[in-house]
Amino acid sequence: MLIEDFVTLTIRKQKNIALIAHDSKKKALIEWCLQNKDILKEHFLCGTGTTARMITDQTSLPVKGYNSGPLGGDQQIGAKIVEGSVDFVIFFSDPLEAQPHDPDVKALLRIAQVYDIPIANNRATADFMITSTFMNEEYNHKVINFRQNIEQRATTL
Ligand code: PGA
Repeated sequence: MLIEDFVTLTIRKQKNIALIAHDSKKKALIEWCLQNKDILKEHFLCGTGTTARMITDQTSLPVKGYNSGPLGGDQQIGAKIVEGSVDFVIFFSDPLEAQPHDPDVKALLRIAQVYDIPIANNRATADFMITSTFMNEEYNHKVINFRQNIEQRATTL
């Protein structure tokens, strides 16, 4: 049986967007959400616990909240990427402050890279992403075929 190394996955027109901000960046993310509210309301939104709650409170956008970041929220969002139910991430991280959950943050960045998920870690990137023509279209991308990967590993290791 011939199994391809890559599979084509589709980021649909209506995207599953995860929103995360470290504490010093929460205000900036809320402001960004307000500025882009008309676009964001067309998509499904989720986020780490505190960020999600603050965005909903201050913008009225519905944002499904996972656990707080330091309590596993970043890992939950990473797992959703693996399962295919998060396909776009806006993560205003703080480059000047040590985070207790730094390994989780790195894990999220890594898994987004593995699954070829667009991820913004600052406002300029977020602005470029949200104004992309792909926001109104489906986007096909090639992602490593994990079935093939397991098949190959299980038969060669
Ligand atoms: P929070 O988590 O939204 O619960 O504050 C964000 C983070 O620090 O990753």
